[in-house]
Amino acid sequence: MENDQFTLLAVHAHPDDESIGTGGILAKYASLGVKTVVVYGTRGEEGDILNPEFVAPGPDMPMENIRGSELENALKVLGVSKHFCLGYRDSGMVGTPANENPASFNRADLEEATAKLVDIIREIRPHVLVTYNERGGYGHPDHVMTHRVTVLAFDKSGDPGYKGFDNGNAWQPSKLYYTATPLERIKKRFQMAIDRGEKPRMNPEFLGTPEHLITTVIDVSQFIPTKFEALACHTSQMGPNSFFRQLPPDQIADYFGHEYYVCAKGCLGPEGKETDLFEGIR
Ligand SMILES: [Zn+2]
Repeated sequence: MENDQFTLLAVHAHPDDESIGTGGILAKYASLGVKTVVVYGTRGEEGDILNPEFVAPGPDMPMENIRGSELENALKVLGVSKHFCLGYRDSGMVGTPANENPASFNRADLEEATAKLVDIIREIRPHVLVTYNERGGYGHPDHVMTHRVTVLAFDKSGDPGYKGFDNGNAWQPSKLYYTATPLERIKKRFQMAIDRGEKPRMNPEFLGTPEHLITTVIDVSQFIPTKFEALACHTSQMGPNSFFRQLPPDQIADYFGHEYYVCAKGCLGPEGKETDLFEGIR
């Protein structure tokens, strides 16, 4: 069975990562008739309520339920047709006690997690997969794990000899991408923070990707309002210190008009930059 409809699968760690990292492409490709699907490793149980104006929809609501309902709203805004959770526990930020929880994603059995993702890939048959780079974008243990599981699942899914949890038909996605932020942009942002008297805690080289390694630049300028609407759905997570709330309005178009990716597998080659994740497949 082929998959007649082009399908994009984004594999993330927590609710809100879909909007922060890939909100532009999810909204854009859904509007172009591509089926968009999101997989999460965890339900974001370790998230803090970062927004003092946040009012929980119900008394004593567990964090995963709060984030689950925020997620449903965001996915509706982005036009995502389906989502799955691998069912692990949020590992929390690096170095926190939640890292040690045996149910946490960063402690998951890599083969088991891969088999779960392969089952999903074989069910929905995506052409393009998007996830984080080997540094998990910014080093969060769940983001690093998301990367490891997705890279393995990308290869195993197309292997008819790999059974995973079911005996489903093998499906080989055509391309695998990693999200990227241009290094120069991070350096600029850090310089602005230093000028304000702040001390950035991270190394820009760790967070950013040098220009020559970025293979793919997607124009999502028409979808900035949709991306921000989706971000706003994650009310509990969008505190006053959030970068998205602090960025001066005149910089929003420049900052969010494009999303940047590194093609890791199935790439077309070095000639110029791709402007479409489905380039070469269409
Ligand atoms: Zn995350």
